[in-house]
Amino acid sequence: MLKLSRLPNGEPEIFASIQGEGVTCGVPSVFVRLALCNLACHWCDTRYTWDWAQYDRIAEIIPVPSGEVAERILKRAEGSGGRIRTVVITGGEPLLQQRELVAPMAVLAGVGLRLEVETNGTIVPASELGGLVAQWNVSPKLANSQNQPSRRTVPSALAWFASRSNAYMKLVIAEPGDIDEANALVDRFAFPRDRVLLMPEAADPTALAQRSSWLVERCSEAGYRFSPRLQVLLWGGARGR
Ligand code: SF4
Repeated sequence: MLKLSRLPNGEPEIFASIQGEGVTCGVPSVFVRLALCNLACHWCDTRYTWDWAQYDRIAEIIPVPSGEVAERILKRAEGSGGRIRTVVITGGEPLLQQRELVAPMAVLAGVGLRLEVETNGTIVPASELGGLVAQWNVSPKLANSQNQPSRRTVPSALAWFASRSNAYMKLVIAEPGDIDEANALVDRFAFPRDRVLLMPEAADPTALAQRSSWLVERCSEAGYRFSPRLQVLLWGGARGR
């Protein structure tokens, strides 16, 4: 049984859209949003997956048998007429449920779908999962997230991802001063800079445009990639888009 986020219409949060961030930005994908997180970023845009002081846990989580999760994803992909070949497993923190993810991911990989997993980089993936994942989108948090350092930086997990050529690090930058901290993290784990993306912290298109303008320049200077946030630009971060 997997715990998924529940949409306001009562359905599990599985939807077709385009990847809005990261190295595969713009790729048509089916998204699956898992509930629960082990961090508490103060700017988190999916607090309904974990913040039980603000949200009703019973209302926000829907348990779904793992076989049904695979079926629902396949139906979405098949409904696209072959246009969608990528599945993005996101959250919350998906690796909190990694044991339960193995079976549905094996089904999806078995029919040739390409699987991306988004993670905050605090949990070492199980070996059974590693072989099924085409791309890891790893987003360790900086001090601007207001998580305790020992919770947001887990050396064993970041070393694991740094050693995988299919892992991309995506760091959220709120102000120019964050870039020194990003550099230190990247250098500490010897993460190749061409697999690192800096992305502006922004919840609305105005802040996104303002922060993107200087962050693009800083990425270019430092040898990083820049990541936009299409879901903020196009839909203001609305759920299920
Ligand atoms: S790790 Fe992701 S889901 Fe968890 S609190 Fe931070 S931004 Fe939100």
